[in-house]
Amino acid sequence: MEELKLLKQLYEQRFLGYRYFNDIKSTPFSSSDLKDMPQSLDELQSYISDCSLCNLSKSRKTVVFGEGNSSADVMFVGEASGELEDNLGRVFIGRAGETLDRIIQNVLLMKREEVYITNIVKCHPPQNRIPTDEEVNSCKPFLLKQIEIVKPKIIIALGETSYSYLTGDIDSGISKVRGEFISFGSSKLMPTYHPSYLLKNPSIKKEIFSDMLKVKAIL
Ligand code: URA
Repeated sequence: MEELKLLKQLYEQRFLGYRYFNDIKSTPFSSSDLKDMPQSLDELQSYISDCSLCNLSKSRKTVVFGEGNSSADVMFVGEASGELEDNLGRVFIGRAGETLDRIIQNVLLMKREEVYITNIVKCHPPQNRIPTDEEVNSCKPFLLKQIEIVKPKIIIALGETSYSYLTGDIDSGISKVRGEFISFGSSKLMPTYHPSYLLKNPSIKKEIFSDMLKVKAIL
């Protein structure tokens, strides 16, 4: 009976906005919780640096938060870090990252430091498997908060996983939706192929090139 009373009291306090210190480790956030999160990228990064909301936390080495210009016009959103990124704690630094760098430099005519780069999930999935719904849902509020802080003009969703989890559209394949802008809050979102897909399929280079020229045109 005493326990029930205490539980009721805790729920009431929570309803009134009280947050428990260990919530981050036990409760997946909903987007309404964004207002309770830290308001700067640095604080948000340290806030999630020992996150254990999903199973990926058991095998990851580092939470790979993202990097770049904190008020960038362009934000790239990939899928998840690979082994190299997991070891070094930096986003998109392997072969796919080199390809992304070339796209940024040669097509957008920008430096990597001028844009912001992150992933849908911040921890490395073993064997580079696609993150599960549960993993994405645990991590997505952090991505939404990054978007809220950076306020990019354009979000480029790299690949189908990024596109479908950002938009909720699980039916259209990436080849159907790529190259078209859609609204995403106060930003525009452009889906395009993932750089890893380009590495395996060099013939899609011209499509990525044309998608990025559309981005360049409205910057
Ligand atoms: N590295 C990343 O950080 N993200 C990807 O999606 C692929 C490689």
